[in-house]
Amino acid sequence: MREWESHVRKVTPYTPGEQPGSFPGMVKLNTNENPYPPAPGVRKALEELTPESFRLYPDPAASELVDALAEYYGKDRERFFVGVGSDDVIAMAFQTFFNSKEPILFPDISYSFYSVWAQLFGIPYRRPALDGEFRLVKEDYFGENGGIIFPNPNAPTGLYLELGAVEEILAHNPSSVVIVDEAYVDFAGPSAMELVDRYDNLLVVQTFSKSRSLAGLRIGFAYGQPQLIRYLNDVKYSFNSYTLNLPSLKLGAEALKDKAYFRETVEKIVATRERVKRELSSLGFHFPDSGANFIFAAHESCPAGELFQALRKEHIYVRYFDAPRIRNYLRITIGTDEEMNKLLSFLKAYLKR
Ligand code: PMP
Repeated sequence: MREWESHVRKVTPYTPGEQPGSFPGMVKLNTNENPYPPAPGVRKALEELTPESFRLYPDPAASELVDALAEYYGKDRERFFVGVGSDDVIAMAFQTFFNSKEPILFPDISYSFYSVWAQLFGIPYRRPALDGEFRLVKEDYFGENGGIIFPNPNAPTGLYLELGAVEEILAHNPSSVVIVDEAYVDFAGPSAMELVDRYDNLLVVQTFSKSRSLAGLRIGFAYGQPQLIRYLNDVKYSFNSYTLNLPSLKLGAEALKDKAYFRETVEKIVATRERVKRELSSLGFHFPDSGANFIFAAHESCPAGELFQALRKEHIYVRYFDAPRIRNYLRITIGTDEEMNKLLSFLKAYLKR
């Protein structure tokens, strides 16, 4: 080891799902992207951008997007914070709110980026185990802690936690900030946004990457009472003033305008998900009852690692986590009906051998 290396901050990074490029015949069901294009207005807004628009810095306050969110949700603009995907928003929230000596809490099976950020920022953490059916045990979050974060629906299980349980966790934690990561909530039940009026320690984080088909633009946001948002902005402005680029601000704002298109694509994905659940069951798979745009499935006899490789050879990409408790599961993103049919016919043939 060279001398300077002893001063390097060494971290084990998060491993994102593979982005194998795109080629005809490939079925990409590994990173929970939306199989449908963004709202049609996004194309128009894109055509209005010129190279000249990139000459200046973007608005550091991201007002166009913040205002669009405020209007969409009918809430004050002071309650919104935007960032470069919800990854950026959550990382910023870790730095801002998780600053105690007590460990922060998140489930043993959940978004694997949480432990990476905790390690990067030197935040102690503990991971209470989900129960045998992958359900979050709310009582595990009632004791002393330095903060709480969990995805709802959870990832990669897909299970949605009823708002009553979320509220109980909040009620037991007036001294901590509780972050509910709602990357997939549009495919599930009501958002915890409705609890923000009553809990000044609740931060709800959402993304444009899934239900709004804009993973490539990297847009995420947080919703909370103005005091939380001010603290977040103080950290953001101490880090990088211009987090969101100009196309993301404009196209993101545009995507919010078309409520009918949004509802239609979300409903299509949910309908496909429910059909795929029935088909997977009949093929011998079992899975938690997903409320997200993916299904976390294990087969009764064929190991997930083997299926993952067999699918990959056919250019059908799903996600496999070689981790305790979940190494027999595949996380399968809901694609178009046609894509899901390809997956199902392959599985049918493969499992019959
Ligand atoms: N939270 C969860 C639970 C996720 O699965 C993801 C997607 N990887 C994210 C946050 C981050 O999504 P993005 O940065 O694209 O908004």
